[in-house]
Parts: sequence; structure tokens; C-alpha cells
Amino acid sequence: MPKKFAIRILVLDDEPFMLKLLARMLANLGYTSVSTFDSGRAALEQVDDPERSPDLILLDLIMPEMDGVEFARRLVEHRYAGALILVSGEDERMRQSVEKLVRAHKIPVLGHLHKPASPEGLAALLEKWTASTQDGHRAAKKIYAADEVRAAIVNGELVNYYQPKVSVVTGEVVGAESLVRWRHPQDGMVFPDQFIGVAEAHGLIDDLTRAVLDGALAQIRRWEEAGLMLRVAVNVSMDNLTLLDFADFVAAQTAAAGVSPHSVVLEVTESRLMQDTRAALEILTRLRMKRFKLSIDDFGTGNSSLAQLRDIPFDELKIDQSFVHGAWANDTLRALFDSSLGLARQLGMETVAEGVEDQADWDFVRKSGCDLAQGYFIAKPMPAADLPGWIQTWKTRMREYLSAGE
Ligand code: C2E
Ligand code: CA
Ligand code: CA
Repeated sequence: MPKKFAIRILVLDDEPFMLKLLARMLANLGYTSVSTFDSGRAALEQVDDPERSPDLILLDLIMPEMDGVEFARRLVEHRYAGALILVSGEDERMRQSVEKLVRAHKIPVLGHLHKPASPEGLAALLEKWTASTQDGHRAAKKIYAADEVRAAIVNGELVNYYQPKVSVVTGEVVGAESLVRWRHPQDGMVFPDQFIGVAEAHGLIDDLTRAVLDGALAQIRRWEEAGLMLRVAVNVSMDNLTLLDFADFVAAQTAAAGVSPHSVVLEVTESRLMQDTRAALEILTRLRMKRFKLSIDDFGTGNSSLAQLRDIPFDELKIDQSFVHGAWANDTLRALFDSSLGLARQLGMETVAEGVEDQADWDFVRKSGCDLAQGYFIAKPMPAADLPGWIQTWKTRMREYLSAGE
């Protein structure tokens, strides 16, 4: 019971009565650090305050000034690191769209509380959450301070893992995406969602990207020397696309490593709104002119996808995993998947389905006409040294799969 006191909960609802009711229910359940807000604007100020940022938000979806959908989008922009409970009346579609939006951005949704909210319903959701995170969200998912991240970069504690991208038709391994990990001396393996946002917010993302890119380039070279020709993707943050010399920098590093730009894919996430579109546009266009491959990542989760496709000459489109995993059993997902695919084809882009997690996803993707696939079903991200061995196992798996299917 005492641990509950440490959990900070924020309740956002435009009805004063609901605020009082929910605050009372929470107090009765032993949660004492509860703040209530009737407007999204004020609630966001608390989210931004590192001393008071909540671990959990109870969010009313229908509000006059800033509604729940907009608030959820703002949470993503403000890099909210906690969880959400959605509170609403009847509107199932609205709830589903908010849930999809925030899940795509990895904000955990504990569930949905129907109005009028019952203490039992609320208790059940909270129970599930505290059980799964023991000390609550903060302890389960520590976000590191800027100085720690800076030191990690300087001390070379970041390592690249690689996740294969394979042809869905032939099974051939055509490339790999580099995904950064932090080998933390005390905490063990730390995942990017615990430090990329910090790096972006504190001007460290250029150094981080540089470290990842250098590692990836050296690795491409090593694989090439061993006869393994792979296109390796590096994730580029929108914050890398503000300094105009980024394109020259990438080109210089690539040349110095003795690697062809054709072997380098730059994956850009479209989900964050660009502040200075012109700089990003210019940098990406220049990279493309230097023959680097450009990939639009997490396609379908942002608002500016179409505008970006219009403005930037992408070579590859990655359909976000939230439209891939389970699409075989869900008409809405399949429609979104198919339309992304159609769009990419018309624009002459190669397509990658992300989040191919199980056999059913793989069977679906194989029938879909998508070019490449990536996901746990094929392989989890792995250390570079494991890749050649994995390719051998995969070849055997594919041979068996193809002979069983035909
Ligand atoms: P992303 O670029 O969309 O990368 C795919 C993420 O999905 C990876 O998580 C990967 O491990 C995970 N994934 C792969 N297959 C599956 C699957 O079948 N099911 C599910 N549920 N997940 C799958 P990871 O490595 O934790 O990276 C998270 C995000 O962090 C990346 O998303 C990317 O946006 C960012 N990131 C990673 N490395 C870098 C980097 O070097 N620089 C920058 N700026 N961002 C990075
Ligand atoms: Ca990516
Ligand atoms: Ca992605």
C-alpha cells in the first residue's frame, strides 16, 4: 500500500463534478498525489514540469477547449513518459482513434473507464498497472538525465543492434536497421525510448546520431569485407535536420569509412511535426542527391505524411507496425495498410512492413504485395556478430517454409 503514495496522478475533465468524484475515488483507493485540471493547457504545464510530471493521466475525451484527441497528440509532442486511462461516455470510435494514436507513440493505455465511472472499474485498471510495473511506471521505465546520456555517448557505451529486413517473396536478407542500445554499467541494457527523447531535448542528438552512424558504417564495411552485402538503415531524428551541414557531414563520414551511399538508408520519422520544414527538406533532398536512400518511418502515425511525401523524394516507405501486426484479422487496419501500400507503389517507393510478429502477420504480408518485412517473427534486433549465423538459420527456415507452402 505505501508505494501508492509515490504515484502521481493527473485527472483532466471539463466537468468539475467528475473531477471531484474521480479525485475522491482515487483518495479512497490510497492514491494521495492527485491533481485535477479542467483544461488541457494547464495540465500540459504540469506534464512539462520534471518535478511534478504525472505517472498516470485520467483523460476525459470530450472537452470543449482542447479535446482528448488533441491533448493526447500534445502529450506525444511533450514526450510524456507515463501511462493513460481514457474516460468517456459512449463514443467508441473516438476512444479507438485516441488509443491508436497514443499506442503508436508508445504511451501505454491501461484501459477505458466508462462514464459514470465506478470505483470498482477504476480500482481494477489501477491494480493491473501497479502489478505490472511493481513500483509504478517511473521505476519500471527510468528516463535518464541529460548528463548521464552525454557521458554514455562520450564513454562509448552506446552499441548498435541490427534487425534484418527481408524480401517477402524470396526471403532474401537485403538489409538491416541499426537500433541503438545503451550498455549501462549498472542498469544493464537500456532501450532507446529511455534516452532518445532526452538526447533530442538537450542538444545531444547530433552526437548520438554521429556515434550510431559511425558504428553502422564501420559495420557495413566489415560485412562487405566478409562478402555480406547489406543495406544498413540508420534512424535520423528530425532534430538532426536543422543544421544545414548535416548532409555534408553524413557524406564525409560515409566516404571516410569507404562505404557507398547506396548501402546507407536514412530512416526519418514523420510523426513529429517539423518546426523548420525548409531546412529538413533541403537537407533530405541534398542527401538524396548524394545517392543516400531515404526512408519514411512509422508511416501513417503522424499528420503530415502526405505533405512529406509530396515534398521529399523518399525511396522507401515503412508501414508502421500498428497497421501491420494483426491486420489480417482487422478490416480497418487492413484498409490502412493497403492504402499506404498503394500510395507507395504509385510514387515508385519500396515498401517495408514493420512489426511482423507472428506467422499470421507473415502470411498476410506475403500475400499483400509489400516488398520487405521486418519484425520479431523474422528476427529480433541482435548484436552485429550474430547476424551472419542468423542468416544461415533463416535460410533453412525459409527453405522449409517455401517447400511446405508450395
Ligand atoms: P523504430 O525506428 O520504429 O524501430 C522499430 C522498433 O520496433 C524497435 O524498437 C524494434 O526493436 C521494434 N520492433 C521490431 N520488430 C518488432 C515486432 O515485431 N513487434 C514489436 N512490437 N516491435 C518490434 P527499439 O529498438 O526499442 O527502438 C524504438 C525507437 O527508438 C525506434 O523506433 C526509433 O524511433 C528510435 N531509435 C532507435 N535507435 C535510434 C537511433 O539510433 N537514433 C534515433 N534518433 N532514434 C533511434
Ligand atoms: Ca526506424
Ligand atoms: Ca518504425
